[in-house]
Amino acid sequence: MSSCPQCDRPIREDAVSCPHCRYQLKAFGHPGIPLHRAEGDEFLCSRCTYHHDDTCNFPQRPYATTCTLYHNVEESIEPETTPPWKQPKPWYRRYPALWIVLGLLAISFLLAL
Ligand code: SF4
Ligand SMILES: [Zn+2]
Repeated sequence: MSSCPQCDRPIREDAVSCPHCRYQLKAFGHPGIPLHRAEGDEFLCSRCTYHHDDTCNFPQRPYATTCTLYHNVEESIEPETTPPWKQPKPWYRRYPALWIVLGLLAISFLLAL
């Protein structure tokens, strides 16, 4: 269980807003859309990847104090899961010649009976 950044009382991980002080925690009332907030007088954009690579076209740039797409420029953008084409093949798909040899052995064994 985490705590509310405003009132510091315990809240559920998927809470859209704090049940105690109504502080908005997620964007658009959806638990899957994080709402990033600037701390102090600093704007989010100054530390955002999309500001530094000049790909953001949000109207609030470069003075965003809240944003749903903010990504810390010091963290790499890596997919959390390996794409299927980069995953290692299972052992039985890595050695197709093994199946040919086993098939020939099986046919030889059947013919020998
Ligand atoms: S994505 Fe948000 S925080 Fe990042 S540059 Fe654009 S407006 Fe600023
Ligand atoms: Zn709160």
